Amino acid sequence: MDYFPVFIDLKNQPCLVVGGGDVAQRKVSLLIAAGAQLTLIAPQLTPSLLELVNNGRIHHVPRNWQQGDAIGMRLVIAATNNPTVNIAIHSECEATGILVNVVDHPELCRFIVPSIVDRSPLMIAISSGGQAPVLARHLRARIEAWLPHGYGVLARLAGQFRDQVKTSFGDRERERRRFWESALEGAAAEKALAGDEQGAAAALTAELERAQADTRQQGAVYLVGAGPGNPDLLTFRALRLMQKADVVLYDNLVSSDILALVRRDAERLYVGKKASNHALPQEEINKLLVKLAQEGKTVLRLKGGDPFIFGRGGEEIDELAQNGIPFEVVPGITSAAGASCYAGIPLTHRDYAQSVTFVTGHRQAGETELDWARLTSPTETLVVYMGVKEAPHICERLITHGRAATTPAAIIEKATTPEQKTVTGTLATLPALIEQHKIKPPALIIIGEVVQLHDKLDWHGVPVK
Ligand code: SAH
Repeated sequence: MDYFPVFIDLKNQPCLVVGGGDVAQRKVSLLIAAGAQLTLIAPQLTPSLLELVNNGRIHHVPRNWQQGDAIGMRLVIAATNNPTVNIAIHSECEATGILVNVVDHPELCRFIVPSIVDRSPLMIAISSGGQAPVLARHLRARIEAWLPHGYGVLARLAGQFRDQVKTSFGDRERERRRFWESALEGAAAEKALAGDEQGAAAALTAELERAQADTRQQGAVYLVGAGPGNPDLLTFRALRLMQKADVVLYDNLVSSDILALVRRDAERLYVGKKASNHALPQEEINKLLVKLAQEGKTVLRLKGGDPFIFGRGGEEIDELAQNGIPFEVVPGITSAAGASCYAGIPLTHRDYAQSVTFVTGHRQAGETELDWARLTSPTETLVVYMGVKEAPHICERLITHGRAATTPAAIIEKATTPEQKTVTGTLATLPALIEQHKIKPPALIIIGEVVQLHDKLDWHGVPVK
């Protein structure tokens, strides 16, 4: 972090701008908006600055900068085009501990002024630390266009209700946070964003009354698919829930990039699961979900890919349903879809495959074997999850049951992530290739004629500019 971001309260604070041109004028406008008690030192002023002086908004000293002018100031901005003066101002401020900014000279700045999106009291400040001002402005323009103006109304309203809400929830902090979360997404927010401040206030009052009447601490579990690993492939719903969870239970398929998007204060519980190395047995996970929800927590169960595809999601919510815990299931991009797209291997194709089957290659003692005879159609694509270890067995069984040994086959490791690795061969050669390329889980095997399209359609997971 090159700069420490802060918002400074400058109301009625003595501040100084040196310079009377257009650049100074922009800074003066900002400082006036922030309520500063502003002095402007410059022999000449732009007409707009002159008007501000005449209106009594700023105190004007009609001369050049002199040593000692910064004394007593909180903050100084130098906007002159005289390098000697700029350096003198900078030195004086540094010597006396006054915050100083020399416009367009980062090396003479103790603080820099960010690009801002102003939805007061909500304020978004963007800075590239002086490295890429155009990029910062570009981002500002995008946020400006995207962020409804009503957000200011909403933030003001939240401010007005803050004390009242605090008092009514007392030390029940989690409930208070939950109230705000639902209030800021509910009717009050809709009205505020539409500019109806009064309607929004009424809706918020009603919501607060409802929340007070409902004193039960009701937790909930969200079973959320986090996709195959690339954070860009999360759903909006997943991201939203990640930001409101009290506690998150995740396993090793959930990448650290994705975990970084979970609300910072949420408790994080690793519950493991590599093929044979379970940090917590499934039954324990099921019980833990129930227990946490019964404590009134918003529980996020984050799973790789889609929760209902080889994710044991069904078992987890079964336990919740039995215990009357409210739950929601959010689909994710299953790794077959992710790997297929990112490796340029369509799972179906009019010329090569009319159907696709997902199977698991993981075998546990006592589990039944796959119905191999059903998996040998030459016009079907077969996707094998959890199949790295069993690949030799799987390929051998398929060939024995009649699928051609020359059938194209691919294995894709860590699909959709920067470490994605794709190896292609045939049913006969794949097991040796897996050894040779040291492929490790998580990886998916795709078997079928569609795999030949990889050579032509692979885009190497590099986004189009
Ligand atoms: N629910 C998950 C699957 C869980 S089973 C989903 O819908 O994708 C775990 C298996 O998923 C792994 O053994 C591997 O075969 C596959 N897998 C998950 N993420 C993957 C990735 N990024 N690349 C390749 N395979 C992946």
